[in-house]
Amino acid sequence: MNLHEYQSKFRFAEFGVPIPRGKVAHSPQEAYEIAKELGTPVVVKAQVLIGGRGKAGGVKLAKTPEEAQRHADNILGMDIRGHRVLKVLIDPASDIKTEIYLGVTNDRAARQPLIMASAEGGMDIEEVNRVSPEKIIREHIDPFLGLRDYQIRNLAYGIELPRELWKQFMKIARSLYTCYVESDATLVEINPLIIDGDRNLLAVDGKMSIDNNALYRHPDLAELRDTSAEPTAETQARAAGLSYVKLDGEIGCMVNGAGLAMTTMDITKLFGGSPANFLDIGGGAKADKVAAALRIILADPNVKAVLFNIFGGITRCDEVALGIIEALDEVKSDLPMVVRLVGTNEEEGRRIIDEANISNMQSAATLAEAAQKAVKAAQSA
Ligand code: GDP
Ligand code: MN
Repeated sequence: MNLHEYQSKFRFAEFGVPIPRGKVAHSPQEAYEIAKELGTPVVVKAQVLIGGRGKAGGVKLAKTPEEAQRHADNILGMDIRGHRVLKVLIDPASDIKTEIYLGVTNDRAARQPLIMASAEGGMDIEEVNRVSPEKIIREHIDPFLGLRDYQIRNLAYGIELPRELWKQFMKIARSLYTCYVESDATLVEINPLIIDGDRNLLAVDGKMSIDNNALYRHPDLAELRDTSAEPTAETQARAAGLSYVKLDGEIGCMVNGAGLAMTTMDITKLFGGSPANFLDIGGGAKADKVAAALRIILADPNVKAVLFNIFGGITRCDEVALGIIEALDEVKSDLPMVVRLVGTNEEEGRRIIDEANISNMQSAATLAEAAQKAVKAAQSA
């Protein structure tokens, strides 16, 4: 789960990272009030879950509250590479002399957290890494020892940070790493970390990703999820306890088990189709869950055919069949559907489907047959 800039920075601040003390506005009028309260100049910043807002015109300086209001009016509603702006952060403007990069992420290959700093701050760090990787100073962190002071000094030295700023830098790096660990984050990033006119370091931009699998132990962070920033289907799927990822294809896939779902997608491609989604209804899914899943699949306008691939183990085929019938009663769809039900209670499941007499539904005995039928149906639709 990714956090907005303001959420990330407020979180960083709880751990001792200095940030500009700004506020979030949802309307131009509110932006005006905040700018007036904070005192100008301010910077008006689009809050969207995507980087490069500055280049896209989503970050603007304002010298007066009226100007802040005008910028907010322009930025709110703006589309930044597919992300609609619904909130702006109004920050006191910083007097930027130097922009630094500082971030912590998970290095899976090394099985350790990695802290990185670069004097090339303010820019797209992936680009810096591609063009001149030597400009990023890296230190792997032993999770049992934690971030050591000598490592932070290595970073400071590597980016040629003036000595008188090392003390501030040490505190920020320690705070950021603690925030990373305590939040079960997979990424915490300050870009830019600036040196201002008073020789102070300040986190002007912040980004944070939390490990979804750890959210259960961070209810305060889980609450920060911005559902208006993700596809509606993904929000609904999460509420129903389904793992769903929207894709661009035209064959809606409903499968139990992540591995089987991946296989189903691959086989669909093998026969010339393309999956509209990844969907794992999970083990032991009951009728209501199946119905929720089908509703989500059918809500996607790209879907031209639906492929059910159920391998009944703990999940019972009759329960799934009931879910399909229940959902079709409610959602009514004449899209072609192909069902492959095997495993626990498969005869009962097939009987339920047959008796429902759904004209647009065919059954298949094997996955290959099911995929071929679904691809064919989608192509002729
Ligand atoms: P991003 O483009 O999404 O990464 O958004 P940032 O928050 O990093 O802002 C982009 C750039 O705008 C920064 O690298 C700065 O150069 C500039 N900027 C952001 N905030 C301020 C500010 O308070 N004062 C000044 N002078 N420039 C700012
Ligand atoms: Mn940035």
